[in-house]
Amino acid sequence: MSLTAPKALRLQIALTGKVNAGKSSFLNLVTGQETAIASAVPGTTTDVVEKNQELLPIGPVTWLDTAGFGDDTELSVQRIEKTRKVFDRADVILLVTDSPLADETEQAIIVEAEKRKLPVLKIYNKADTYTAPADGIAVNSLDKASRDKVLVQLKSALLRLCPDDFIHTPPLFGDLVPAGGSVLLLLPIDKEAPKGRLIMPQVQAIREGLDYNLIVSAVTENRYAEALAACKKAPDLVICDSQIVDFMTAHTPPDIKCTTFSTLFARLKGDLGKFAEGAAVISKLKDGDKVLIAECCTHHAVEDDIGKVKIPHWLKEKTGKNLQIDFCAGRDFPDNLSAYRLVIQCGGCMFGRREILARINACEAAGVAITNYGIGISEMKNVLPRILEPFGQVFQDYKMAKNP
Ligand code: SF4
Repeated sequence: MSLTAPKALRLQIALTGKVNAGKSSFLNLVTGQETAIASAVPGTTTDVVEKNQELLPIGPVTWLDTAGFGDDTELSVQRIEKTRKVFDRADVILLVTDSPLADETEQAIIVEAEKRKLPVLKIYNKADTYTAPADGIAVNSLDKASRDKVLVQLKSALLRLCPDDFIHTPPLFGDLVPAGGSVLLLLPIDKEAPKGRLIMPQVQAIREGLDYNLIVSAVTENRYAEALAACKKAPDLVICDSQIVDFMTAHTPPDIKCTTFSTLFARLKGDLGKFAEGAAVISKLKDGDKVLIAECCTHHAVEDDIGKVKIPHWLKEKTGKNLQIDFCAGRDFPDNLSAYRLVIQCGGCMFGRREILARINACEAAGVAITNYGIGISEMKNVLPRILEPFGQVFQDYKMAKNP
């Protein structure tokens, strides 16, 4: 995987610690670059700085260099808040310290990580000035000659600590198709499609098909019937973009399995079962219920934007109710969700799995249902049962949630 690997496939490593413990110098040492601002003035790193690195054999990682804890300047409250949010994104917490004993601030970091079941790796920086305990890596970040040795220790520690689903990336659809089988991708090329290229989920699907030694073909709606007729053997799975899910289900013979990219990605980087359960709430919405539409980036909205226009329209069409719809974008996900009956989360292509799971957990804690765009749209268009059929237990649980 390269430096352009999708975020969901990158290990997210948060660099935390007290102001001026040497987080930025440590990052500079391991990346071999002057990525972050390292300064003798406490609190120089004012925001989360992201840096991608290929850390073989682990693969692509993103370093999240945070503002330090324990700063007493005026800006610090905001900065610490940003740092806390990093716990929702990270797969592993690196705690950089310049002392053998954790003080109150460092203990607070460890407790915050434990609350979220995040592994913590201690980096004892400036270790030439004290005896570093054996439960971490002893470094002197300013000693550039030590880079290779530090990297070896760091990689073995990360391999030991990083989540299993990072090392063994779950399949997107490889397990749903028999060996030697075929998949047909049904791709709309409309005005939301970027000029001259495919979007990342489509590229990932093609790559997975090739990795599983499957036959992968692609077609747009206008030639779908022709493509199916031309197949000597029907495809084992058809995958479409959610926006044309009603077209796909209407034109795919019932004995051919079909689903959507969003459904596959919900399984890969979220929780398909929870999203399906959340979709079952749509038909139970009442007048005045509040729905939050949450997008993970602030992309430029087109005329009939999916989040701002289409989903509210389809919700109205499906429920016939007067709902109060709020929007949020980027990382401005509300801390207090209790006013909402349902959250409809975008596909989250700019987010990693951990961050989507954090949103699911926040909803669960607040007793709020959550679904995602693709699964919600399939429900609004009355085709979700067909889309979930390939997913066994999730399909059964969804049916139970609809008709308890
Ligand atoms: S799926 Fe979410 S993160 Fe990806 S482009 Fe759309 S709004 Fe942005």
